[in-house]
Amino acid sequence: MKIFNTLTRRKEEFVPIEPGKVKMYVCGPTVYNLIHIGNARPMIVFDTFRRYMEYRGYQVTYVSNFTDVDDKIIRKANEEGVDASEISERYIAECKKDMEAMNVRPASIHPQATREIGDMIQMVSALIDKGYAYSVEDGTVYYKTKAFAPYGKLSHKNIDDLEGGHRDIKVAGELKKDPLDFVLWKPKKEGEPYWESPWCQGRPGWHIECSCMSKRYLGDTIDIHAGGEDLIFPHHENEIAQSEAANGVEFAHYWMHNGFLNIDNRKMSKSLGNFFTVREICQKYSGQVLRFFMLSAHYRSPLNFSADLMEAAEASLDRILTAGENLRFLSQNAKTDRMSEEEKQILAGSDLYAKKFKAAMDDDCNTADALAAIFELVKYINSNTTDQISRELADQLYERLDTLMDVCGLILEQKQDNLDAEISALIEERQQARKNRDFARADQIRDDLLARGILLEDTREGVKWHRV
Ligand code: AMP
Ligand code: ZN
Repeated sequence: MKIFNTLTRRKEEFVPIEPGKVKMYVCGPTVYNLIHIGNARPMIVFDTFRRYMEYRGYQVTYVSNFTDVDDKIIRKANEEGVDASEISERYIAECKKDMEAMNVRPASIHPQATREIGDMIQMVSALIDKGYAYSVEDGTVYYKTKAFAPYGKLSHKNIDDLEGGHRDIKVAGELKKDPLDFVLWKPKKEGEPYWESPWCQGRPGWHIECSCMSKRYLGDTIDIHAGGEDLIFPHHENEIAQSEAANGVEFAHYWMHNGFLNIDNRKMSKSLGNFFTVREICQKYSGQVLRFFMLSAHYRSPLNFSADLMEAAEASLDRILTAGENLRFLSQNAKTDRMSEEEKQILAGSDLYAKKFKAAMDDDCNTADALAAIFELVKYINSNTTDQISRELADQLYERLDTLMDVCGLILEQKQDNLDAEISALIEERQQARKNRDFARADQIRDDLLARGILLEDTREGVKWHRV
């Protein structure tokens, strides 16, 4: 299995620290609002990679934090006149609901920064003792960036260039000795949450949080550290500087970064106002369609979000779900139980697509090609199944398709969304109307659905529908 490592800028063979085990840390969201679909991208792609590693037989310990102390959380708390913890707890709960809607499995551990403050104070103290950090009069503790010689190794930035960029920047009131130094601990301001520390009543900087939570739950050296590409610099670069200086060993062997999600080909950002929350997208489509859409691109490529692409994702996913539905129908209505010799050949022929799927996922988690392999399998299934097949063949093919879908976190059995439930109810009503020879009502239902772009088809296997 190969992973593109941001550290070396190469695809490298994955070799875990401990055979058969993977320790992975993914930077999670800052919880002051409903998560947007950009935040959903790392959740979906790295959850898929986790599922794939498990499919490959690895035992994965997957840690993903919630940043629950931050300026934006405090601002929102002040606006609402409540405690910061009320805001963060509320949005952690909402985030978990969105994760469930997208079938993102809970992490093995979801640490929260505010519960790990003791560890952070300890690491900051260790950095001061080792000469990598210093405190100033107002109680702020800074990391002495130049003391860490490999600084810049992840983002491939040269410290001299960084210095050039910073030369004229002097923020009023900052007491740091060098513009490149960054905050490890900062004093509280009026009305802010704070913790006691040897330096002042205050709170940790953002970067130290991840260094500490990763160390506590996964140890000094981990296999994979991941997040969005905007985190490479300075967040992950600073995490490396802190962890490696404090622990004296390499922090993470592989660094994975997802590309950005854009909207209508423009960078999605809260300030531009061109973002969608996961909640609103899941109401319009479904979490499963959003997930499918995210996986249809390589995780390192930029991905453009648009209504057209979501419609296309919905239609593609529907083709797969329909194949699954057909197989379930064929299994339930099969006239023979066991596979014939010829059917065994058909089943063996389907192995090719599982191999293609695996090859794609082994190649730096190429979900786009993995989904293409699923489509090939669907095509193969559709062209090799008739209503004469045995129950065993229908079940076996279903299981093969289901296994690959499950690695992607896609539920084969799940008919799309609320809309599906509504359409199913109308189809049911139409069938009933026909039985009662109320053809006027039956036709009306059919026409109403058509006006909404949904075409009903009466097939041998029952009534089917698709969008037109
Ligand atoms: P934040 O809450 O901003 O700390 O972000 C949480 C995670 O979402 C980080 O891994 C970010 O890199 C990622 N992220 C934020 N916006 C986007 C976006 N537009 N596309 C992809 N990933 C994003
Ligand atoms: Zn982080």
